[in-house]
Order: sequence, then C-alpha cells, then structure tokens
Amino acid sequence: MGRRVVVFACAARARGAHAPPAHSGSLAGVKRRVAALALALLFGLLAGVAAAEDLVVSRALLEDTTGNLTIEEVAGRDFEPVERTVTRGYSDSAFWLRLRVRPPARGGDVVLHVRPASLDELRLFEPDPGDPSGWRTRVTGSRHPYAGRERTGLGFTVTPALPDTTYYLRLRTDTLSRLSVQALEPREADRKDSQQDLLLVFFITSLVYLLLWAGQSYILDRQPVVGLFAVHQAVYILSGLAVTGYLAPFAPAAFPGLVATMTAVLVCAMNFTGVLFSRALFAPYQPPPLLMRGLSLFLAAFPLQLVAMAAGHARLALAVNDVLVTVLSWYFLLVAATVRREQVPSRRMLRLIFVTITVLATASGGSSFGIWAMPDSALADTLMVVVNGLIASGLLAMLLHTRLRQLRLEAQRAAEELRLAQKTLAIERALKEEAELRARTDYLTGLFNRRHFIEVAERELARSVRYRNPVSLLMIDIDRFKAVNDTWGHGAGDAVLQEVAHLIRSTLRDVDVVGRVGGEEFAAVLLEVDGDRALQVSQRLCATVAAAPIAIPDGGPLHVTISVGIAELKGRAIELDRLLHEADHALYDAKEAGRNRAVRAAQAAALDRERPLA
Ligand code: GH3
Ligand code: MG
Ligand code: MG
Repeated sequence: MGRRVVVFACAARARGAHAPPAHSGSLAGVKRRVAALALALLFGLLAGVAAAEDLVVSRALLEDTTGNLTIEEVAGRDFEPVERTVTRGYSDSAFWLRLRVRPPARGGDVVLHVRPASLDELRLFEPDPGDPSGWRTRVTGSRHPYAGRERTGLGFTVTPALPDTTYYLRLRTDTLSRLSVQALEPREADRKDSQQDLLLVFFITSLVYLLLWAGQSYILDRQPVVGLFAVHQAVYILSGLAVTGYLAPFAPAAFPGLVATMTAVLVCAMNFTGVLFSRALFAPYQPPPLLMRGLSLFLAAFPLQLVAMAAGHARLALAVNDVLVTVLSWYFLLVAATVRREQVPSRRMLRLIFVTITVLATASGGSSFGIWAMPDSALADTLMVVVNGLIASGLLAMLLHTRLRQLRLEAQRAAEELRLAQKTLAIERALKEEAELRARTDYLTGLFNRRHFIEVAERELARSVRYRNPVSLLMIDIDRFKAVNDTWGHGAGDAVLQEVAHLIRSTLRDVDVVGRVGGEEFAAVLLEVDGDRALQVSQRLCATVAAAPIAIPDGGPLHVTISVGIAELKGRAIELDRLLHEADHALYDAKEAGRNRAVRAAQAAALDRERPLA
C-alpha cells in the first residue's frame, strides 16, 4: 500500500474548528449499520495501534534554542526525561531526543517510528561500530527527496546491541505539532502504518463523501453557503493529505521542498475558506455587524501569510496560523453566541454545534501546544483527528442539510402560493371579462345592447366622417310582432327575436356594427357602404328573414317579415342622432308602404322608395 500515515496531530491542529460535513438527515437503518460497522472497525484499529510494544528503555528531550548544536555538544548535556512519547509542542525550533533502545527478545532490527510525517528534517546519530568514539548519521524528512527515504514514512531502522543502545535524533519542523517516536519491531511498525493507512482511508472517504454531498447540493440549490462549504471541505481534505505525508510521494525529486510549501499554503488556506464559509453560515442569523466585520478581517491573514511565505518567512506564517486556528474557533463561538435572529435550524442548535466544535478544537490545540497531554499520544492524536474532523464536519453538514431542507420547503410553498395567485387572477379576469361582455350585450339575442351599440356606432360614424368614407345606418323592425306575442305567447316572441337577430348578424359582415336597440327593433351600421349598396343588402336581408321558417316552443314553424329604414352619410358631417332619426323616418315609410321592404331616407333620396320584394 502506499504511504503510511503518520501524524494526525498536525491535521487536527490545522483544521481547527470547523471542518465540514456530513449529511445527517435521516440515517436509514442501512446507514446506521454501516456507521456502527465503521465505528467498530475504527476502535479495532485504535486498539491495534495502542497494542504496539515500545522498546524504548528511556527517552529524554533537549530543546535546541540555537538550532545549531552538534552531537558533540549535545551528548554530554542533561536532557529532560519524558514518558513514552514527546508531548511538548514545538514550532520553528530544533529538538534533540535521546533514546535508549533495547533489542527485541527475538533479536534483530528495530524501527524508530516517527510521527508526524511533516517534520522538515530528522537526523539520526548512532554509535559507529567501527569507531567506538564516532557517530554515524542518517537523515530524512519532508525537505528531503521522498525517493531517498529509508522508510515510506519518517523514521529509521536500527539494530540495537544488548542490553540497549543510545540513539540521538535531531528534529526540525515549521509546524506546531506533537511528536511521537517509538521503537517498534519492524512487523509492528508496518502493522501500525497499515492501520494508519486504513484509518486515513476511512477518514478521507468520509470527508470526500461530505464534499460530494456539498457539491451536489450546491448544484441543486445554488446556495453559496453550501458551495463555500464544499470548497472548504476540498481544501481541508487536501491539507489533511499533505500534513499526513500522503502527498510526499508526488514531490518531484528536484523540488523536495515543494510538498512542504504546498502543505503550508493549504494549512493557511483552511482558515481562509473556513472564514468564508462561516460568514455565509452566520449571515442569516444576523450576528452583530461589528462581529461580522471582525470576522471578515481574518480573511486578510491569508494573503499576508502568502506574502510572508514568498518572502521566506514560512515559519512566521505558520506560527501565526497556529494561533489563528484557536483564536478563530473561539471567535466563531462568540459570533454563534450573539446571533440575533431565529432561523432554521435554531440559534440554540447553532450554538450547541459551535460549543462542541470549540471544545474539540481547544482540546486538540491544547494538547498540540503541550498545555496538557493525553495518556497515550498515539491514541489521543488519532482520536482527536477523527473526533474533531468527522464530528465537526458532520455537525456542520447536518446544520446545512436542515437549512437546505427548510429553504426547499419555503421555495415549494412560495411556488404553490404563486400558482394559486395566478389561478385566482385568471378567474378574476375571466369574471371581469364576462361582466363587461354582459354590460355590452343584449341577454336575449347576444347582439350589442342599445347603450353599447350607440357607443360603437358613434365612434365608427366619427371615423367615417373624418375619412370621408361612406357609411349607412339600417333601422330594422319586425312586422306585426305584437301579433306573434299575442297569438303564440311571449316565449314564441323571444324565439322569433333570437332567430331574426341571428339572421341579421349572419347576413351582414363581421365589421358591421349590429345592436338590438328596442323591443323588436334592431339597428346596423354598415361601414364603407353607400345607400345603393345598403339598399341591396337590406332587400337581401328582408328576403332572407321572410324565407326563414322559425321554430317556436309550442308549434311552428313561423314566418315573419321585417321592414328596414336606411339612412346614409353622403359625405355630411352629422351626428348619429341625426342619422338615426332619418333611418327611423325611412322605417316608418317602409311600414306605411306595406312592410316587408327596405326604404332609403327621404331626405337622402326622396324618390328611392322601393318596391316591395317579390
Ligand atoms: P309593426 O309592424 O307596426 O311594427 O307592428 P308591431 O306589432 O311589431 O308593432 P308594436 O311596436 O306595436 O309591437 C311591438 C311589440 O313587441 C310590443 C311588445 O309586446 C313586443 N316586445 C317588445 N320587446 C319584447 C321582447 O323582449 N320579447 C317579446 N316576446 N316581445 C317583445
Ligand atoms: Mg314591429
Ligand atoms: Mg316596433
């Protein structure tokens, strides 16, 4: 398998407070079983890690404040005794570790197993068998070509003599972290590495799952906060891989320092993306604006750190970062504690989550700084990473998931309301149109009623006057209609009215304006039609009505006739009243002349009395 893992401490530190995600939502039964299995596997691994037997007889630590001490200067000095692993934090400094290692019962090699894997330089001094007063040295570390390493991880294979052999290790690093050096049988060291590999796979897989979830949610919902979460998660995963040494094999031999630089950039970027994400997360809860501005100030740190790194002050940038991680986690808590607006999920939930995250970050930070020590650092570091990473990420993902669900619900509700409003509007519009139509039309015949006919006829007449277009007005009256009512009843009268109206409407053109202007009287405005043509049309209409059999409720068919009076504009500028009056007169003339005929107005053509239709 590839690289073994090694240090989780760095990852835990670097990540600090907020890492992202998991999707909590509703864990189905299957998911729950998978989670339980994963947990069991995890504890199995941890038990295995803890079981490794350390062959160190005694260990002692010396801080090299000058960074320049030589083995000759160090070999004679007093070292501070330490238990099992070195649990003091360090940064931008060199340490010497003196180890007395006994050979395994079966004899053979021992692996000096070192974590974290991100140490800049690690130098081993061991007695030279050929020269009892001399030292042999070997070197490894992040800033040395990966291909030249003795082990895939950091560390050395040595062969201690009975009863034990003293080794000196000189360690340099830029990163604040906790150091673990154990002397293990090779098989045990390999097993430990494999376990760490597996643990990292589990860890990274979970985080990648959260990343995919966040990415997919962003594509679906376009919520910036989820997009930022995904970005943060990606940076987090990459820096996790970097600090645990998994990127080292990809470093070109020509640039052994590249991975170290990338690691530093990623570790610093994590604060940056973390702040971007949490700003978006907090915003809807409306924290005090001053605190939000303060949060944005933290964003300035990253560009400054990049500048510092470019200027060769990587150690300073990283030291600042270590402090930032812890400060930020408390700042986040402060913001969460002071948010003012209620939201989904609730403010209480938000605070609870950030209390948890801060406690985790502080516990991890405290042990990295050496403020307190875990009983067994290998176990503690690993637990810290898993707890810190997965729980913090999981909680935040749960938060986002709840928020997204709420947003989706709200969007759904809004869409439904919109649909309802549109429907209501359509109904209202239809009702209004119907009311308008009713106000315009005659209930019995469907023609324009008197009022609307006058309105439209006036408009059309005015237009014809203006453009000097010919126009004719017909007054149409059913002959002896009273007799229909009297003989056949009112229902028959209505049927006749409807049928005559229909015949008029279908005989005239669509552009002609037709209305029912009295009980059994109709009027029509024929546009661009002069008196001659109007007479022809009227005669045709008289003939059509006279020929049409009309069905009535109790019997029939009936036959009725109509009389038509015609008035024409003849280029005059007159009002509708005048034209109506003339048509009325012509109609009267038609009745006088025996009905069932059309007559043009006397004023227009006194001699135009027409002969009755055949
Ligand atoms: P003329 O040939 O001279 O026009 O004879 P007429 O019987 O048609 O004349 P008159 O104006 O005396 O009669 C009109 C009748 O139309 C009177 C009224 O009862 C009837 N009428 C008016 N409005 C309606 C209606 O809406 N329905 C029915 N069934 N009859 C109506
Ligand atoms: Mg009549
Ligand atoms: Mg009449």
